[in-house]
Amino acid sequence: MNFKLLFFLLIQGLGISCAPRQMIVQQMLPNKSNIIIPIPPAPILTEDHLLGFTAPPEMIEDPETGHRALPGVMQAFWRFKERAKMDGWNLILVSAYRSYRDQRRVWNQSDDSYLQRGATNQKKRVEAVMSLVSVPGLSRHHWGTELDISETSIRGQLVNVEPDTPERVLKFYTWMQKNAPQYGFCQVYLGQKGSVHNEPWHWSYLPYSKTYQKQFMDIKNFKRIFDVNVEDVDYLMRNFNRILKDEKSSINPICGD
Ligand SMILES: [Zn+2]
Repeated sequence: MNFKLLFFLLIQGLGISCAPRQMIVQQMLPNKSNIIIPIPPAPILTEDHLLGFTAPPEMIEDPETGHRALPGVMQAFWRFKERAKMDGWNLILVSAYRSYRDQRRVWNQSDDSYLQRGATNQKKRVEAVMSLVSVPGLSRHHWGTELDISETSIRGQLVNVEPDTPERVLKFYTWMQKNAPQYGFCQVYLGQKGSVHNEPWHWSYLPYSKTYQKQFMDIKNFKRIFDVNVEDVDYLMRNFNRILKDEKSSINPICGD
């Protein structure tokens, strides 16, 4: 047996017996040296963190874009970015952590733009906004685990995956689907169920987000997210049970296990 493999199995075995489960999560990198990089345990997040009212602890910044994420998430992205370079893709973060206030701003901008384009029917307007923007408080971007990823040469073009999508965009998306999971990233919104459309740019760092998703699913009281400064908050309050159900069922089941 390969000595490195034996050593890895031994460490794994010790880990199972005496370390907390999160401590033994490892990431096998598909590079020449097959270095095994331990993933730091998922930081403990409270309901306040999950709903976006408090920033997750010790987030770090991407020097290229200024976007922030949990350290383990950003480090995985940087490793993934290095790997992408080898295949000629220059990954760029378009968004990462967003607070409740950030999300409220994105929500309100989208809602206003629909209003300005004549969407006076409240139900239709809110459903249109929800297909692209999560309700403030319900966004996974609050967790510090979610990254919107693009590539510098096709920036702004990865908006859908349709027959008329440019070939280079499709090529990049196919590359992402094949390689992102090896670095822990899962595409959360496939647009097959629920209220959220296909988001080929949105990737979730699964070693952490699966823990937070379980916690999020157990939250019972969402009262605090109904802020009077959120556009159409009255509609959100009246229809919240359905909205929450639709948001939850939009999640790719593979990203939850
Ligand atoms: Zn996103």
